[in-house]
Amino acid sequence: MYVNGEWLRDGPTFSVHNPATGETLGEVFDGNAEHAQQAIKAAEQAQDSWAGETAYKRSELLARAHGLMLERQAALANLMTREQGKPLKAAMNEVKYAADFLLWFAEEAKRIYGETIPSARADQRFLVHKQAVGVVAAITPWNYPISMLTRKLGPALAAGCTVVLKPAESTPLCAMAVFDILHEVGFPPGVANLVTTSDPKPIGDVFCTHPSVRKLTFTGSTAVGKHLAQAAAPQLKRVSMELGGHAPFIVFDDADPVHAAKGASLVKFLNTGQACISPNRIFVQRRILEPFLDTLQERVGKLRAGNGLDPANSIGPLINEAAIAKVDRQVQDAIAKGATLLSGGARLSDGELANGHFYGATLLSNISADMLIYREETFGPVAAVVPFDDDDDVIAMANDTRYGLAAYVYTQNLARALRTFEQLQFGIIGINDINPTSAAAPFGGMKESGLGREGAREGIEEYLETKLGGISI
Ligand code: ADP
Repeated sequence: MYVNGEWLRDGPTFSVHNPATGETLGEVFDGNAEHAQQAIKAAEQAQDSWAGETAYKRSELLARAHGLMLERQAALANLMTREQGKPLKAAMNEVKYAADFLLWFAEEAKRIYGETIPSARADQRFLVHKQAVGVVAAITPWNYPISMLTRKLGPALAAGCTVVLKPAESTPLCAMAVFDILHEVGFPPGVANLVTTSDPKPIGDVFCTHPSVRKLTFTGSTAVGKHLAQAAAPQLKRVSMELGGHAPFIVFDDADPVHAAKGASLVKFLNTGQACISPNRIFVQRRILEPFLDTLQERVGKLRAGNGLDPANSIGPLINEAAIAKVDRQVQDAIAKGATLLSGGARLSDGELANGHFYGATLLSNISADMLIYREETFGPVAAVVPFDDDDDVIAMANDTRYGLAAYVYTQNLARALRTFEQLQFGIIGINDINPTSAAAPFGGMKESGLGREGAREGIEEYLETKLGGISI
């Protein structure tokens, strides 16, 4: 673990594995509750002096971290592919995206503006000041093992908060590589701390109950997010939650079905479907169902699964056995309830795939509301197509989920696009666009997909308190 500016490596360890090959990549420090307390103490001790640095100093360190991350892009991407599984090209993109957050928030650090407000009293002035919330505890997932860290570290450090971060147990090596960068560019001791562990619960408990932690930021499943938010509630800690999703992908009959199907295949199979904004229900208006399915089937058939280090492979492994079992359960349930299997539908274990967690790119049509896949997040390489007839019906169907993270709409009709944009209860909506994400744009969900937004101008607000001065003169 990395605490108070030093790497601590002596102690119990756990192994990290490559999900494509099963090989052991390394041994990592196995932190426990006491280590979390130690890291929080270091963060607490550094808090005042870090918040007291000028915004220019904080900005400069973040900008240097951005530069060093880009210098190391190829090595970081290679590590990510081996530890998490995504193809090298996607890993390169993720490192760039991760670095974007460091630069964006290096810039935002200098724009933490206050306000003066006119008073109804002639002898009074109002002064509004923004200041760091204090020590931040962060918990991050394995599916985007570098960018989900910088999306939290960037704004927290820019705002003047110190941080203790716990990465996912499958991807601690990527987290360590990020903290190597923070160390090398010279963040002061205690400002950013890392506790790796094979057992997240005791550390999560400390994060939620330690009085010095003023803010908890979490990205992961809705079930764990709810548990953490409840545990943090007795002390009214501030929380940001980026949780699960169940994105609808709506294709209206005025859209080009071939173009829409290409978009669906690109975004659905990104990261082997292991993304919270991955389309989970692809709604296609019946008049263009056939050309849409023909194109999607052709493209899905060409997706080759395998080790992400080989550029011929476009989809990598799933993260572990539990993920394979979950995907297969949803696929078999859908088939048993009447879905049509057009491609894939089974685990892949030929040759060297046998050592990894691979599932064939799958296309199902005739999905209906009684199937598990219609309700549960899949987090796997399964495109599930639901035919529809009427505009109003599809909006109701799309909104009929407890999730509210991302949605996608294909139409050439401006009125339809705007109406749908307004009616969908989701935080991120791609209109004829499959990548509505950027460090500059607010990312986050409605309903049970979360609380708060990351990235953008709003991202830094999550780490700032508003303080009012009322002054008699
Ligand atoms: P997933 O199902 O995608 O792995 P999780 O929500 O289980 O999502 O994991 C996201 C993050 O939450 C990881 O860092 C994981 O270690 C952490 N986590 C899981 N369970 C707990 C818990 N009870 N307390 C704190 N952190 C947890």
